[in-house]
Amino acid sequence: MLMIEKYSFGVGDRFGRQAGAQLQALIRAVQQGVDVVPVWNKSHREHITIGSDPSSVRAAADAAVRSLDWERPYHVDADHINLENVDAFIPYSDFYTIDVANAIGEAAADEDVKAFVDRHSELVGELDIPGLALPLINERGDIELIARKFLLAVQQAAKIYRHIAVAKSGAEFITEISMDETDRPQTPRELLIILAAIADHELPVQTIAPKFTGRFNKGVDYEGEIEQFDQEFRDDLAVIAFSIRLYGLPATLKLSVHSGSDKFSIYGPIRNALAESGAGLHLKTAGTTWLEELIGLAEAGGDGLALAKEIYDGALEQMDALCAPYSSVIAIDREQLPTGADVLQWSSDQFVAALRHDPRCDFYNPHVRQLLHVGYKVAAKMGDRYLEMVDACEDSVARNVTDNLYERHLKPLLID
Ligand SMILES: [Zn+2]
Repeated sequence: MLMIEKYSFGVGDRFGRQAGAQLQALIRAVQQGVDVVPVWNKSHREHITIGSDPSSVRAAADAAVRSLDWERPYHVDADHINLENVDAFIPYSDFYTIDVANAIGEAAADEDVKAFVDRHSELVGELDIPGLALPLINERGDIELIARKFLLAVQQAAKIYRHIAVAKSGAEFITEISMDETDRPQTPRELLIILAAIADHELPVQTIAPKFTGRFNKGVDYEGEIEQFDQEFRDDLAVIAFSIRLYGLPATLKLSVHSGSDKFSIYGPIRNALAESGAGLHLKTAGTTWLEELIGLAEAGGDGLALAKEIYDGALEQMDALCAPYSSVIAIDREQLPTGADVLQWSSDQFVAALRHDPRCDFYNPHVRQLLHVGYKVAAKMGDRYLEMVDACEDSVARNVTDNLYERHLKPLLID
């Protein structure tokens, strides 16, 4: 098992051009005394949409690390993989996010459920878990119900893990299990039972991504009851610490928050909970960088701004198709979207203000932001025309990518 560091930041980079600018943000955080390492993550779905392949993520990460003399660890995450698509990632990734959300709710075999409940008599009755708001009280029937719902997902994770381990033939890697892309949040009680099952399968999981309460819409802030999130997050931390001790799971096991970018209003509660518990964190904030690329183009003005407007227009035209794969994590009010003709009239400042995630700014438009968040396919279709423009506007793009990651993400989460 390759050990993960206490704090790690999942930075996705849709077009593979920003690894250096992202790493600059991590360097700034390190200069402030925070030990945080980058993880470049990209999913199979993103590779398909963009037409890239996993080798490119490794190449971009290695190049950035070399050119900036980064001497700390860094990782390359095969994000949201499954048995069908993991093979292409094997030579290039040292971090695997095993996605078993689709198996949740599919009933496990009766005998497996019974065996699980028989094996875990320690879960029956009142459990006093340090740090938990209320003691957990489980009847045998509760455990059975939860096991029926999650056991198959864990069995599937085990199958994928073993497949990766064989394919890596001895090379060490980090294992994450993700269950975030599903309809219903998992409760701390469910997390405990999931972790017990993970331990039964001897999976050296170091990050786990449950689905949290509230909405995690793409590119915009958290929507939901912050107090409820706060409680759930703290309870999850308590359950994880307890499971590490009780089941011998890796001591480095920590939560992975798949943020869908920019969940600013929960950063404070997360930071406080980490400080109080001493827990680590993995945070994925991938799509935010692609939006900064667009902001950088718009800020450069001229041809860069024109291309950013063209991408908006294209995204508007193909909105239904672009939003379909993300329907559960997007909430666009079409009435709030300016027309392509409106946007054509915008100045550089107007475009930047509409897109930049500054909730205090009157011109900030979360609907435009969500649409463009899922609109990277439009830029991908432009091919070299898009990439050459990003290169031509490198100064403004890199500045925005670095500042965004440092000022709006790393700093509020880990520094102040
Ligand atoms: Zn995710």
